[in-house]
Amino acid sequence: MSQQPAQKGFTLWFTGLSGAGKSTIAQLVAQELEARGRRVEILDGDEVRQHLSKGLGFSKEDRDTNVQRIAYVASLLTRHGAAVIVAAISPYQKARAWARERIGEFVEVYVRCPLEVCAARDVKGLYQKAYAGEIPQFTGVSDPYEPPVDPELIVDTHRETPTESAAKVIHRLEQLGYLSPAPDSAPSWLERESHWLKAKSAHADGH
Ligand code: ADP
Repeated sequence: MSQQPAQKGFTLWFTGLSGAGKSTIAQLVAQELEARGRRVEILDGDEVRQHLSKGLGFSKEDRDTNVQRIAYVASLLTRHGAAVIVAAISPYQKARAWARERIGEFVEVYVRCPLEVCAARDVKGLYQKAYAGEIPQFTGVSDPYEPPVDPELIVDTHRETPTESAAKVIHRLEQLGYLSPAPDSAPSWLERESHWLKAKSAHADGH
């Protein structure tokens, strides 16, 4: 009986402000990874806080505990070959560095977006409440956010569409050897954005 070679697990760790686009990109990337036969698990910050981290607050200590718990679960799944996607604000650099060390196969993506744009999007109506003083310790408004020092990738969601950002993530995973290049059956958005990415990098090379 022929067996497929085991695929290497990894954790794709999206960090960024609330409303920056972590969940949106996570969903698009997950679809594409599943289409390529990967087993995918998304650990989304909001959901984690309802289950795994129920009862934790937003002090630095609780935020660090939250990230440590996510990293613990992600490390177990990664060890078994899963493609794990974490979408959590995870505002502290040290806690993310700890997660990187714990997980090993770690791809940090800074989902970058100016605070004003996130606040204008106000996907969940939280910024309005935070600016009104109704939510204490709200990241970016009344609590710190420490950007990644040396992430594997940065996506700029105020000037990219969700599919552009997702395509950048997929290409980075291919570059890092976690994913084989796209099959012919790649979804139309990925094919479209791949042309855009190639054109952009040719431009950057001065061609
Ligand atoms: P987060 O998970 O970081 O809190 P969400 O994914 O819930 O953020 O919300 C991001 C919002 O920004 C969505 O309404 C999405 O459509 C919009 N958006 C605009 N451009 C992008 C992009 N390039 N990537 C992701 N989301 C984007």
